Amino acid sequence: MRRFIALGLVTVVVAGAYLLGQMQAMRGDSVGVMSEANATESENAGGWSRTGTTPDRGVYYPGTEELAPDEMRVIACGSGMPMPRLKQAAACMLIELGNGDKFIFDMGTGSMERLYALGIPLDYIDKVFLTHLHADHMGDLPAFYIYGPQNNRSVPLRVWGPGGGGTRPEWGTKAAMDSMLDMWAWMTGTLAGTIDTRSMSLEVTEYDWSKVNGVVYEENGVVIRSIPAIHFEQSASFILEWNGLKLAFSGDTLPNRWWIEHTKGVDLSIHESIFMPDMAIKKWKFSGEEALNAVTKIHANPAFFAKVMAMTEPKHAVAYHFQNDFDTLPATIRAVEQIYDGPVDYARDFMVWNVTKDGVRTRMAVPNPEYYPTPPLQEKKIDMSGDRYQTPDWILDGFPDEVNAVTDQIYDDFNKEYGTDYKFQLKN
Ligand SMILES: [Zn+2]
Ligand SMILES: [Zn+2]
Repeated sequence: MRRFIALGLVTVVVAGAYLLGQMQAMRGDSVGVMSEANATESENAGGWSRTGTTPDRGVYYPGTEELAPDEMRVIACGSGMPMPRLKQAAACMLIELGNGDKFIFDMGTGSMERLYALGIPLDYIDKVFLTHLHADHMGDLPAFYIYGPQNNRSVPLRVWGPGGGGTRPEWGTKAAMDSMLDMWAWMTGTLAGTIDTRSMSLEVTEYDWSKVNGVVYEENGVVIRSIPAIHFEQSASFILEWNGLKLAFSGDTLPNRWWIEHTKGVDLSIHESIFMPDMAIKKWKFSGEEALNAVTKIHANPAFFAKVMAMTEPKHAVAYHFQNDFDTLPATIRAVEQIYDGPVDYARDFMVWNVTKDGVRTRMAVPNPEYYPTPPLQEKKIDMSGDRYQTPDWILDGFPDEVNAVTDQIYDDFNKEYGTDYKFQLKN
């Protein structure tokens, strides 16, 4: 209830500020006839000016703000559902720490291009933690892995995922990653000797998903632990601790005792919150039985989410894993507010949380849809040793002689521009 009162006060203050702004704007109507002295005075107010930069943009432009040494920044690179949609990729959170470490928690379908749009060198985002192996939590990992060389990653990709050990021990992350490497055999093999493929090595660590609060990762002052999830088996949630800050991230899970015991009072609690059953019927066209199963036996619906938050009282809560639309959000909020009155954000892609000991600031990021790969951080090396792939002669013989003059021109121009002496040779 206290939070409602606080919210009420904030509303009054915001409304007051808005009215003041309106009054100032009305006065601003007469700026055109103001004296020059008055105009200068007015332009400097609050850092605003006719020719300078906008002092407060209210959003986060990736790559334009330093992270303080004691600060954590979390960006939703996927807040949605298994269904591919332009508006929301499936589960993926980027966690950036003031010590320079960056972690990816889950990498669902569609999330890779969101990550790329932040303009972070791939050498910096080489650590991926998977809560479980559903496609909406790892579907973009194969593409993220295989596109490393073309996007200037020069370090191995490190992946942590649940081991086997359940009733199907053969279903662990290592087996999945081995199959993924097999799937890419042609692509990996044909690229060798043509580009720098050093990043095409994968370091896979399986963690024991059945352990309660077991340490998954501990480096550089960062500890990541896992707790079991109720979502089939071989599913987990993560708790990251660094510098006195604590972040909890659920994969898919029903409310569970381990989460409730170990995430009490965390700074940022990101938990799945799928639809209520009637929305599963209306929006997904599920049958009644399918709808109830999906949102009460496999996933946490908004009421489950709210109950978990009410029992754990995080400093700031985030609901994700639902299609966040104008016609789904009100019902979700109604379901949550009947049970939980703490601060909560309903995640959309590119929502950003800056977390410090003083609290959490939520904004939307404005990503760069035009981004090109960030430059390589290390000198490129093409491995010419070993069993290099060679396209068969009969295929290369299909290259028309008439194109040779065009190719020569390209090489001449290039050598002139770059002071080099390359010669065109289709066959290695
Ligand atoms: Zn799942
Ligand atoms: Zn999921």
